[in-house]
Amino acid sequence: MTGRHTWWERYGFARLRRWWHALAWPTRVGPRLAVAFLLVAALLPMIGLIAEREQRITGARDAQVDAQDLARVTAAEIGGGVQDRGRLDSAAARPYLDDLKRQTGGEVALVDLRRGSVTGTTPAGAAGLAADPDGQIAATLRDGLIRAVTRHGAGSEAKLMVVPIRTADDGIVGALVLDYSRLYEQVLATSAHSRRLTVAAGLTGMAVALGLGWAFSRGMVRDVRRLTQAATRYAEGDYDTRAEVKSRGELRELAEALNTMAGRIAQRRAELVDLATTDPLTGLPNRRALRAGMARELEHARRRGGPFSLILLDLDHFKAVNDEYGHIAGDLVLRQVGKILQSQVRATDLAGRHGGEEFAVLLPDTGRDAALCTAERVRAALSHTPIEFQGHAVQVTASLGVVTYPEHGLTSEELVRRADVALYAAKRAGRDRVHSPPTA
Ligand code: GH3
Ligand code: MG
Ligand code: MG
Repeated sequence: MTGRHTWWERYGFARLRRWWHALAWPTRVGPRLAVAFLLVAALLPMIGLIAEREQRITGARDAQVDAQDLARVTAAEIGGGVQDRGRLDSAAARPYLDDLKRQTGGEVALVDLRRGSVTGTTPAGAAGLAADPDGQIAATLRDGLIRAVTRHGAGSEAKLMVVPIRTADDGIVGALVLDYSRLYEQVLATSAHSRRLTVAAGLTGMAVALGLGWAFSRGMVRDVRRLTQAATRYAEGDYDTRAEVKSRGELRELAEALNTMAGRIAQRRAELVDLATTDPLTGLPNRRALRAGMARELEHARRRGGPFSLILLDLDHFKAVNDEYGHIAGDLVLRQVGKILQSQVRATDLAGRHGGEEFAVLLPDTGRDAALCTAERVRAALSHTPIEFQGHAVQVTASLGVVTYPEHGLTSEELVRRADVALYAAKRAGRDRVHSPPTA
């Protein structure tokens, strides 16, 4: 059979795959919600970080634009002053350079294209700026384009803006180099606070989302569990149980629907039990109910050791009633007999229709003598009560057999059999009488 297994099954990879699936695609509600909330929660700081990056980029661009504007204005001013056949006058330019330094806080250098000389706010600073390792200043001197240059030093970074200086007739006479690192740092520093806020908001959002998610999924999972438990109790036949959930909405509706369902089932069940244990003609308990009552009494008597009795009753010559007045009249008589019977027994006794024109009474905690007494009372009541219908009055009598647990039997079959025998003994003895087997 191993030949049919794939290689990963043979080497135990199938189990690994199942674990991976259980982790990656959880089927239970709790882990599913946890994963979903974790993903959503992780999104919040990610958005925060993206916003932070955006702000940093915007800040850098703003600093660059500011630096470029300032450098261009200064370059234009210096360029506007060039008259002497396109020569730069470094002495005349100095105030402009100093002014630009004051505004930006960075060194400024002026490179003269013709002379190849450099003027600056400080000689050392100017020399540093005009050193052109990457050829960017030379390029601007050539093509007249503005360039933003980042120059990497040892552990530091300098942001430079290179702007051409043009004469009124648009000729390039030099370049202005501005170190706008300070400006750049200032712009970044002013937005640092809001960036920190963004990140903090993202992290707080994540914590809140995780907390809410945890509380929410915990409550929901608990409610689902409560519903399952309630459904299990219903399945076990406990219809009095009620499903209760804490959350509102669909789960609450589901709990209410379950409760309504349980109520209806209980009601329907009671109706069915009633239907199955009631004789439709007389409304008395039927043979099934009598048998169940007998089993109950036996159980009870065996446990407690007390006696109980059973009376079987069969109407005398009932066939004659049917023959004389018809079947419907016979039914009416049976109904009246049921009423008389019930009126003569205690509420704790169970009087029922055993079938046909036979009735039975189960007498809990009742010995032979008391049972004989009751049977005699029933017999007398029947024989003294004419049953009236459609202008007729019928006098019915009955023969009764009485047995008592435990002297006449220890099982229901034995008790019923001996009650039957006693009943027919009463019939044979002339009817309208009560018989009981002799006690051993
Ligand atoms: P005895 O018991 O005294 O020997 O005579 P009996 O005429 O009662 O004889 P038996 O018990 O054999 O007959 C029972 C009769 O009861 C037969 C049937 O016509 C009648 N009977 C049984 N069940 C019903 C019923 O539900 N309705 C009506 N109307 N008659 C029934
Ligand atoms: Mg009969
Ligand atoms: Mg009969």
